[in-house]
Amino acid sequence: MGIMTKKEQRIGTRCIHAGYEPTNGQPRQIPIIQSTTFKYDTSEDMGKLFDLEVAGYFYTRLQNPTNDFVAAKIASLEGGAAGMLTSSGQAASFFSTFNLCSGGDHIVASSAIYGGTFNLFNVTMRRMGIDFTFVAPDATDDELHAAVRPNTKAFFGETVANPALAVLDIERFAKVAHEHGVPLVVDNTFPTPINCRPIEWGADIVTHATTKYMDGHGTCVGGAIVDAGKFDWFAHADKFPGFTTPDESYHGIVYAEKFGLEGAFITKATAQLMRDLGSIPSPHNSFLLNMGLESLHVRMERHCANGLAVAQFLEANDKVAWVNYPGLPSSPYYSLAKKYMPNGSCGVVSFGLHGGRKAAEAFMKELKVATIATHVADARSCILHPANATHRQLTDEELVACGVGPDLIRLSVGIEDVRDIIEDVENALKTV
Ligand SMILES: *Cc1c(COP(=O)(O)O)cnc(C)c1O
Repeated sequence: MGIMTKKEQRIGTRCIHAGYEPTNGQPRQIPIIQSTTFKYDTSEDMGKLFDLEVAGYFYTRLQNPTNDFVAAKIASLEGGAAGMLTSSGQAASFFSTFNLCSGGDHIVASSAIYGGTFNLFNVTMRRMGIDFTFVAPDATDDELHAAVRPNTKAFFGETVANPALAVLDIERFAKVAHEHGVPLVVDNTFPTPINCRPIEWGADIVTHATTKYMDGHGTCVGGAIVDAGKFDWFAHADKFPGFTTPDESYHGIVYAEKFGLEGAFITKATAQLMRDLGSIPSPHNSFLLNMGLESLHVRMERHCANGLAVAQFLEANDKVAWVNYPGLPSSPYYSLAKKYMPNGSCGVVSFGLHGGRKAAEAFMKELKVATIATHVADARSCILHPANATHRQLTDEELVACGVGPDLIRLSVGIEDVRDIIEDVENALKTV
């Protein structure tokens, strides 16, 4: 697992340096250890690794040095105690929640989450016997308390929801979760730790689709999980026997005892879930992810500035019926966005045109800079009309019901010169 370093430096410096410290004569850039296995002199040495008696590498499905350098950097950026990489954001969402529960348990989740996560919870994890209660992202404290059951094991939400752009009241969700003795898991993909660090507001576990801004160049699907290392498993031992009672598959190790509050969550997720489900990124992908992280702080600033400028332009144009961007005072989430993300949230803007679905189709055909793609949070501006793509199977009534109306256009504003992005949008609007 990635152990954090350089907590004392500022975040822009840690984007570049955290996680890997070469010693005299070692490579300056992180080495790509493209090896499935690691060699040992004796079987006894190897045995100790298999028993989790000593730390070390033996098989890349469990741990790989390149992956760990990058995980340690992300843990540092989030202000967490330990981190791990996964092969996708979906795997991060699954491992981070399944590490806390078993069949028969229950999770309270915000309904404003990524569609893939909603399906993972509502269909696939239900098939495993895990139940979910979905609550509005702006549910009252009373509604949150009412959603909790004796078998509840976690709360889950997204800092800025994809694609609804709802902002989670992290501090409030964390407080209610903790009153019931369970951790809060937050998917922090859209703001990235540059704009928001959920752990500072009480979140216990943070996840990422590194596929998005962290990679930032549309090269590698990937995920990350960071543990704050603060949740007291022993104080809620009845709820979390997986952390406080012996794991017979490792000769009776008790995770919270052997690895402490800082190490228990990530070690258990690695030793059990990676071992059995094997969703590791390739070391080469982790190397590319690290290249993205080295410029994350610079890119996020530009994404936010461009996103706000485009949102303001759209709001002032009379062909545009509505604009949703947390950085606009017209957004219902403006004050929460200011509280949690004073420097900006992300570059994703959604809007609708007078003329609805037909106008959206005509408008998108004319764009030259923004390209039509089912991707967001990329250096290149990308645009999607969900009613024609990801949500194609739904009727107009069903689209409205899931908060993605037939007219909704999602524009992920890139880091091109914003004058070109706005001119492009302006030209395309003239044709509708
Ligand atoms: C894309 C995304 C995911 C899933 O990530 P993949 O890498 O595509 O598996 C999860 N959460 C959010 C917020 C996302 O945008």
